[in-house]
Order: sequence, then structure tokens, then C-alpha cells
Amino acid sequence: MPAPDPQSILDGNRRALAKAITLTESSLGAHREESQRLLEALLPHTGNSIRIGISGVPGVGKSTFIESFGQLLLKAGKRLAVLAVDPSSPVAGGSIMGDKTRMEQLSREENVFIRPTPSGGTLGGVAQKTRETMLLCEAAGYDVIIVETVGVGQSEFQVAGMVDFFMLLMLPGGGDELQGIKKGIVELADALVINKSDGEGAGIAAATQTQYQSAFSLLRNESHWTPVVMRCSALANTGLGEVWDTIQSYVASTRESGFFERQRATQNRQWMQQLVQSLLMQRLKESPSVAAALPKLEMDVESQTITPYAAARRVIELMDEG
Ligand code: GDP
Repeated sequence: MPAPDPQSILDGNRRALAKAITLTESSLGAHREESQRLLEALLPHTGNSIRIGISGVPGVGKSTFIESFGQLLLKAGKRLAVLAVDPSSPVAGGSIMGDKTRMEQLSREENVFIRPTPSGGTLGGVAQKTRETMLLCEAAGYDVIIVETVGVGQSEFQVAGMVDFFMLLMLPGGGDELQGIKKGIVELADALVINKSDGEGAGIAAATQTQYQSAFSLLRNESHWTPVVMRCSALANTGLGEVWDTIQSYVASTRESGFFERQRATQNRQWMQQLVQSLLMQRLKESPSVAAALPKLEMDVESQTITPYAAARRVIELMDEG
């Protein structure tokens, strides 16, 4: 598969972009090299978007929210890319989020690019591909990138680490446990947005908002941003303008303070560190010397003939031998 011409991506050619993403997702060594060359050529043209992470349990209304919010962004003259991190799906189609009926209206829009989660692979692998896809979309001129994930595992931590602004969609009523929210993730959120604040849910949503507002003020007290708790109805299309206003004021104030760029720099460094680990693990798995010696070493550790530390050291020495 020849890599698309970088210029065709900069020109906004959707087929070229889709092809570049497919190349990025391939696990073939030759494809990886081609996609890295392409990414390097495009790197100076990346970074010009607002990266927004959206997470929440299945059924909270993520796709409905993105459908309505996306229309609002289009009206504001934005070009939008929607990417997904959903490592729960070993095969495309079996995904919680991958079905084609989601975001039906948005997917027909000229200025919207929707890419379902890459299928298969570990969470780290999927996250890595999504990060590269994000860069490709930026080079193609998309100025808002939404990275969506189901908040039922570890993927929301990965997503929070690759975006500028991370928000959690919540349901009216119920504490963290009821909402299936992992400990720690609320602390990473720049905004909590209580969806389905309509009909019978409206009153409960207001109470939930107050509850989280007071909890939040105790949780996070950082100088760069005070997290906000908002209400909306993705279905009735209310409160979405406020969400967009909040994101814009976040971007403006963190750009001014320098936090915006600092956070991106930190994220890049952490991304590299994760890659070092995964490349090392890959080398370990591919080493014939390690493969030959490992079963015996494991047995020796189990029977306490050698210490786990000595065995681990031996594995690393063997890896260096190839
Ligand atoms: P996802 O699994 O998080 O992507 O959730 P969906 O967007 O598929 O929504 C799940 C269900 O909730 C659907 O039946 C939606 O119509 C409904 N829903 C989504 N947003 C709202 C909302 O703001 N108000 C109400 N009442 N229902 C909503």
C-alpha cells in the first residue's frame, strides 16, 4: 500500500486521509515505516485544533450529544473529526461504539470526518493509533477533534492524556458508583456535563449538579482551571452552547497562561515514554533467545531455585543477545 502524498492530505482530500489512517492502523512493519515518514512530513502542520475528550457510560448519550454538539460546531464554521477509542471490541462491528447508525446526520456532513475505533489490539495500541490519527486529521484541516470513549475501563485515562479538554457525560441522579465511574477519573475531568436534563430528568439533574459542584470544589483546586459542572439535553438541544462557550474560555485562558502548550508538551513526552515501554515489550516477545529460555526460567522461579530478580535480569540479558 503506497502512502498517500502529504500534499493531498493537506489539501483536505478525504480519501487520502482515510488511506493514511489505514496505513497508521496496519501492524505491518513496512506500513509503519511509511506512515511514520508521512507523519513526519505532516508534523509541522499539526496541532492547530482543539482536542476534546468525551467519556461516559453506555447509554449516557455520547453519540446523541456529539450529533447535536457537532451541528453547533458546524454552524460556528468549524470542521470536525470524531475519533473513538474503544478497545472492548476485538472485531469491528462487535464494538459498543462502532455501529454505523450512530451520528447518522453528522456522518453525511461535508465538514465532518468520523472514524470508528481501530479494531483489535491492546488499549495502548489503540490509543497510539488514535493519537496518530488525530495528527493526520489536524494536518487535513479539522479544527475540532472529538475523541470519544466508553467510560467503563481504563480507556478514559488514555483519552484524558491525549486531549486538551476532557469532559465526562453523566446521568441525572446517582453517585459515582451508580454511574459506573472509575475512581480518579472525575478528578481528571475539566467539566462534568449532566445530560438528559429534560422532562422528568430536569429536576433530578439540577440536584445532581449541585451535588457535584460541592464535591468538585473540594476535589480540584488548581490554578489553571476550576472544573465546571453543567447540565444539558442532547436530545432537546439545550445547554450545548454553554458547553462550547466553556471549552472556548478554557482554551483562551490556558493559552494565555501557557498551560495549554505545557500540557501538550507533557502529553507528548508521556506518549514517547509509553512507546519506549511497548517497543521494549515487543522486542522481548520477538527475541528467540528469550523464548527459548523463558519456560525454564519461569519453572525455576516457581520452584524457588532462583530469585525472580535474577531471572528477570537474565531475560533482559538474553533480549540484548537477540
Ligand atoms: P451512548 O451509548 O452514550 O452513545 O448513548 P446514546 O447517544 O446512544 O443514547 C442512549 C439513549 O439515550 C438513546 O435512546 C437516546 O435517544 C437517549 N438520549 C440521549 N441523550 C438524551 C437526552 O438529552 N435526553 C433524553 N431524554 N434522552 C437522551
